[in-house]
Amino acid sequence: MSGWDGRTGRLERGSGCACQKRRSPREDDVFVLLQTDPLSKARRGRLTTAHGVIETPAFMPVGTQGSVKAVSPRELRELAAQIILGNTYHLFVRPGLDVMRHFGGLHRFMNWDGPILTDSGGYQIFSLAKIRKITEEGAHFQNHLDGTPTFISPEIAMEIQASLGSDIAMVLDECPPYPCEHDYAARSLELTIRWAKRSKAATKDGFAGRPSRVTNPACLVFGIIQGGTFEDLRRASAEATVAIGFDGYAIGGVSVGEPEPEMMQALEWSEPFLPNDKPRYAMGLGTPPQLLELIARGVDMFDCVLPTRLARNGTAFSAGGTLNLKNAEFTFQKGPIEEGCSCPACREFTRGYLRHLVKAEEILGLRLITLHNLHFYLELMQRARREIEAGRFDTFRRDFVAGYRPANSA
Ligand SMILES: [Zn+2]
Repeated sequence: MSGWDGRTGRLERGSGCACQKRRSPREDDVFVLLQTDPLSKARRGRLTTAHGVIETPAFMPVGTQGSVKAVSPRELRELAAQIILGNTYHLFVRPGLDVMRHFGGLHRFMNWDGPILTDSGGYQIFSLAKIRKITEEGAHFQNHLDGTPTFISPEIAMEIQASLGSDIAMVLDECPPYPCEHDYAARSLELTIRWAKRSKAATKDGFAGRPSRVTNPACLVFGIIQGGTFEDLRRASAEATVAIGFDGYAIGGVSVGEPEPEMMQALEWSEPFLPNDKPRYAMGLGTPPQLLELIARGVDMFDCVLPTRLARNGTAFSAGGTLNLKNAEFTFQKGPIEEGCSCPACREFTRGYLRHLVKAEEILGLRLITLHNLHFYLELMQRARREIEAGRFDTFRRDFVAGYRPANSA
């Protein structure tokens, strides 16, 4: 197999490496739509990547700095995480590409042999970096750590993700802020489309007769739909991005501060123009009820920092809503976070003990709640897959959403 060096080798260690099961994805079987729900747009699918198969709907834990915060790859495997997300911007800034290449890519560096999706870095350039200047060529910025002036173009973003050894790479897009005027959103969208064409040209397939430049032939590439909160722009973005032709499509520009109805609307305006035979990914979302609502609207993949971020505040997810384990009501409670939960925290520890760990700021407390929250999200997706298979997804969604108390009503 020709191509990027880090992908041709295997993990030297051990028998558990999914690399041994991998095969080169073919155009026609990268994503298989197995079943659809009769009462909603929910889909049961299977996405094949170079490092393994992802059953969808799927949740991707976020490994911002080459680590899903407080959780080891062994624990991720025990939680049955199928794929994780790596943040291109953060890894590019620190430790940097020379270190990533030296260790043979992100899989080997962090010892995770399953699939990895990397973002393009665009979102962090726009939200974290200083002194940004967006030109036709790309994004000029100073990184948030030491202010080093840096430039990322659509082609460079693809090359960085190839160096990381990504299984699913995202195109560089401009993510307009919320709220945003129609004119600005339209201009931003046109730039994003031009960048998407350049990203495609830099990938394995090439685009419009231009030769391919990135040398990681196994990497899937997803396009990103933008268009803000405008129906015409969402449609235009979806149609233009699909016309370029990617392995999957992400809905971007959601979860940027807009109210939930506008987020759902942006998705509903984009979805009808996405092909059935490619996976759909809603970027940066969401709460457990939002995930089920988005599955019902035809989304297959999610990533979100909520389960790990809220765990570090002492907040645990349950079917009835979130629990703030700092609250005094848990002091003497001998039950687990959630009855029937099979996660390591619930199998072995009481709410009262976890509350104590959180109050005493013990690292074990945030680790255990993180494991519970990730288990909760991953199991919710597993349940959604089963319910779609059984033709009962819509009832399951309604019942779950009705029983889930939003955090602000607690
Ligand atoms: Zn649990």
